[in-house]
Amino acid sequence: MAKPRVIYWFRTDLRLHDSPALKAALDLHPEAFWPIWTWDPHYVYRARVGPNRWQFLLDSQRDLSESLTKLNQKSKLFLIRESPQTLLPKLFKAWKVTHLVFEKDTDAYARDRDAEIMRAAKAAGVEVVIRSGRTLWDSDLLVEQHHGKATMSISQVQAAGPKVGAIPRPLAAPTKIPDPGEMPLEFEQDVPEQAPDLNAQAREHGDRSYAQLAGPHGDFAVPSMEELGFTATSLHRGGETIARKLLDDVIANEEYTALFEKPKTAPTDFEPQATTLLSPHLHFGTLSVREFYWRVQDVVDNYRGKGKASQPPVSLTGQLLFRDMYFGAQAALGHAFGQTMYNSHCRFIPWHLPSKVDHERKQVTGEYHIDSDEAHVWFQRWKWGRTGFPWIDALMRQLRQEGWIHHLGRHAVACFLTRGGCYVSWERGAEVFEEWLIDHETACNAGNWQWLSCTAFFAQFYRCYSPVAFPQKWDKDGVFVRRYVPELAALDSKYIYEPWKAPIQDQRKAGVRISGAGEKEEEGVYPKPMFDFAERRAICLDGMKKAYHVGLYGDDPKVVDGSWRQL
Ligand code: FAD
Repeated sequence: MAKPRVIYWFRTDLRLHDSPALKAALDLHPEAFWPIWTWDPHYVYRARVGPNRWQFLLDSQRDLSESLTKLNQKSKLFLIRESPQTLLPKLFKAWKVTHLVFEKDTDAYARDRDAEIMRAAKAAGVEVVIRSGRTLWDSDLLVEQHHGKATMSISQVQAAGPKVGAIPRPLAAPTKIPDPGEMPLEFEQDVPEQAPDLNAQAREHGDRSYAQLAGPHGDFAVPSMEELGFTATSLHRGGETIARKLLDDVIANEEYTALFEKPKTAPTDFEPQATTLLSPHLHFGTLSVREFYWRVQDVVDNYRGKGKASQPPVSLTGQLLFRDMYFGAQAALGHAFGQTMYNSHCRFIPWHLPSKVDHERKQVTGEYHIDSDEAHVWFQRWKWGRTGFPWIDALMRQLRQEGWIHHLGRHAVACFLTRGGCYVSWERGAEVFEEWLIDHETACNAGNWQWLSCTAFFAQFYRCYSPVAFPQKWDKDGVFVRRYVPELAALDSKYIYEPWKAPIQDQRKAGVRISGAGEKEEEGVYPKPMFDFAERRAICLDGMKKAYHVGLYGDDPKVVDGSWRQL
């Protein structure tokens, strides 16, 4: 029998350690082994990816590529610049591939893409090997053990997970990898017969010359930020090497790891931040979640006798369970999980600025009557950190510059945009996060926005974050605000969260003028607050009460056809 010729397709798993899929590929003992990354047009053109996340991705690819070369001088991460839907069927033929191996991805888009690839592989006689490795438990099996339903609380995950099985101990990284085979890239120009249902967009990107496919130098290299024309501003950098070092640092601090309680970590801390900042590494798979879990678990076990370690939901393990919960919900609900419409678990709220889809549809049908102009301005001011509330603005500027903010900071800005201030749809906020977060994870982002907007997972809408009292609890002098809103750097601490209250002589002393509506950036000027927060909170609370009373969900025909207006 011919020896296996294996393409290992890296996607959500840019690492060598603890990768069940990579192990499965190497266990085939291939005669030819190609570690590849394909340039997915969905990522490049469709998803909202800001420069900071690009930088993190390229860092991670470069680090992985170097590690692969250390295992075999002839190998590296081969970057091929074409859509996987069109590229892989051609590679199957041209490279005489026998196996395609990858880590399972339960994101809604990824499932559609992978189904297409699997059909093409079947037609080409290529065996597909898939292993779960992105979550503690395989998300589909987790859902199965939760009676086929979306996991909506971590107690449900704690009940269903062990029925899937014990979380395996991490696997060691490989110590060698086989040579790649030849890599011809001159294909017949036709879209291959094996994949007749390629989508139109993939087809457009289908036929490329050799030079385009292998990059400008023909060497399958990871592109640079300069080549892509992007400039990043974040200091948070990617790669398995950095991820493992960060985890080692966390684990070395036994007390921090064993006693970690999320609600007690300060959202105003920076350099260093109060939580682990491992989320972007989990997103790109430069850190295995099982490695994270077991390293923490071992610390907790060793801590017995020294004190009482923290427990889920507040402990570090609890945070990883939340992650699995959102992945489970997404695995069960598919595309609908990322939106309100058709989402059976997402409560419908008639936001003053609805989601883009809802907004456009209602404008076209003429059934949309709310004047959303004001809310639209608030949304823009929120996005660009010019609300006139320094706590909110500091967080949004940190997000834009660095691509990461603390969990409670995310709580504050998400609550403010939705049910606790602007009454703007959570879907608008989730889009901004999608663009700017370096750890953007479709499941976690949509799920947490639903939580914060009280449309799913959490229902206590009367519990709101004040943009003044909440940060004061952590940072009386506003050190965090001074860092990210430098206009206010010299303002007296008693006005730092309410600068509009500062008398004119205090403003002068601090070299700032509190004036205008923040339309344009002007040196030494910080805007007035865009609304009276107490007034807006009361309006939002009233709106939420009514919406809860009516009790519509995203899958309700009244929501979908718009007849909720007549209720
Ligand atoms: P730590 O507190 O050190 O936690 C360790 C790990 O647990 C994190 O790295 C993360 O993978 C996981 N985790 C922690 N909290 C959560 C949570 N609430 N939900 C899911 N996983 C969690 N997290 C993302 O990874 N991607 C997102 O796109 C994302 N969007 C969010 C949007 C909003 C509105 C909110 C409120 C939260 C969002 N989160 C998201 C969850 C959470 O804020 C981040 O995971 C966390 O702040 C990352 O920092 P850390 O690595 O220091 O977390």
